[in-house]
Amino acid sequence: MAINMQNTPFNLASCIEFAGKYHGQQKVITRLVENDELHETTYSEILLRSRKFANALKKLGVEFGDKVGTIALNTYRHLEAWYGISGQGLVCHTINPRLSPTQLIYIINHAEDKYILIDHVFWPIVEKMHQHFPKVKGYIVLTEEKYMPKTELPNVYCYETLIEGESDQFDWPEFDENSGSSLCYTSGTTGNPKGVMYTHKSNLLHSYAGGLKDAIGMNARDTVLVVVPLFHANSWGIAYLGPMTGATLLFPGKAMDGASTFELIEKYQATLAAGVPTVWTNLLDYADNVGKKMESVTEVIVGGSAAPMSMLKAFRDKHDIDLLHAWGMTEMSPLGTLNRPTPQILAMPKDEQLTYRIKQGRPVFGVDMKVVDENGVEQPRDGKSVGHLLVKGNWVVHSYYKAEAPCVDEDGWFDTGDMANIDEYGYMEIVDRSKDLIKSGGEWISSVDMENTAMGHPDVLMAAAIAIPDEKWSERPLLIVVPKEGKTPSKESIKEVLATQFAKWQLPDDIVFVESIPLTATGKFSKLTLRQQFADYKGE
Ligand code: ADP
Repeated sequence: MAINMQNTPFNLASCIEFAGKYHGQQKVITRLVENDELHETTYSEILLRSRKFANALKKLGVEFGDKVGTIALNTYRHLEAWYGISGQGLVCHTINPRLSPTQLIYIINHAEDKYILIDHVFWPIVEKMHQHFPKVKGYIVLTEEKYMPKTELPNVYCYETLIEGESDQFDWPEFDENSGSSLCYTSGTTGNPKGVMYTHKSNLLHSYAGGLKDAIGMNARDTVLVVVPLFHANSWGIAYLGPMTGATLLFPGKAMDGASTFELIEKYQATLAAGVPTVWTNLLDYADNVGKKMESVTEVIVGGSAAPMSMLKAFRDKHDIDLLHAWGMTEMSPLGTLNRPTPQILAMPKDEQLTYRIKQGRPVFGVDMKVVDENGVEQPRDGKSVGHLLVKGNWVVHSYYKAEAPCVDEDGWFDTGDMANIDEYGYMEIVDRSKDLIKSGGEWISSVDMENTAMGHPDVLMAAAIAIPDEKWSERPLLIVVPKEGKTPSKESIKEVLATQFAKWQLPDDIVFVESIPLTATGKFSKLTLRQQFADYKGE
């Protein structure tokens, strides 16, 4: 068959080439990891430096398809490196620095990383563990000479010195668009982490979809606070969408506390921000404490775990900000759903709208989803019938990296491990991760609902609900609460708030107050750690 349209294979380098050419003056601002100072650069500079880095890497003897790891925070150097790596046909393996030593050793060896790029603050990881990484040929520290770690190790390069004398011209090669561009491992709460190998095609399609107005919908007038890490599921595609649209990017480096994020927002008049709920809890808390309003931001995207209604209301009522709930997973590149209102929702009374707006949202074009029961029978789209959430689409995993068998069924559906319902307007609502549901006396209790209701209490900062073993009921809920600074909410008052949403038998038998809740490597409540911590909990 004759193809009448041009058919150049996708290469992610096209994003940064476009940005350098058509959005060259637009800025990327970083809070430097080295000294917390603010650094400004432009897309045209980033393009030239990504080409320089591509040349430097080539000289180190890498070959098409080699994996290059990054253990790094959100900075302009990390962004340049992404393009310098993937653009020449190598695979950028983003590594979460908060993984445990066992997990780090596992994934670096499993991926067979040839080189590792690393922020100097994470250097102790290499110093302690390099003997476990026999395949790594060298380390590139993402900094300038004066911050280089003192080390006896050979083959440690300084990024700035490495690229200094290189040419800023580079011929990005043409290759199959289904070649791997990036690799990201799930944090693996059970068993070994599993790798998801994205391709140039899947990442670009994902980014096009993310750019739609009903998805993330960025443009050159936006200034985006990118709290969601480059190392976690492609920073939700924003590291591609930024250059594609010319949006100004704000990278927070290592400072993710409320005061630092607020300062970035205010100083650069951010219009959009993206991150996990714990970051926004801290930001809102800070703004409350200092009595300030976020004037420039119009939308905040929240995902990674469920956002509570209290968060949606706090953004809306105190800051005039629309909180957009999003859901996805590493296996989905990660975008699955985003919550924006359809005309049908906007026609509803304000309070009723909220019950839809707090759901995880509607699928982005390119993703299909359904909810099935234990026997695989599709459940009605009635907003009530809960089942296993299955997804498919061009940026959904087909098989894990190096796995022999696909991880989808014969029709291509991938089981997300989430329990959910879908309503008549196409809004999907996560009820729980299947392994976090609490089963008491044969009935299910949603830990997510319980947490989000408890966080509606004015003195509760964070709340996590877990199942604890019970002889009579098999499991009972236990609620673990971090009070807001200086507050001492009573157990009774929290139970009163819960009683507005839960039947009496569903209420937790006890509430435990703690100073902090353990988080996973991706910033979510670590239910696994909590379950271990409270395994023998007997109550009052
Ligand atoms: P990891 O499993 O490594 O923490 P992922 O980002 O891949 O990282 O986790 C995906 C899971 O996170 C989803 O399957 C879902 O359980 C949960 N999740 C993501 N976004 C939301 C959300 N908005 N509401 C509830 N759960 C969410």
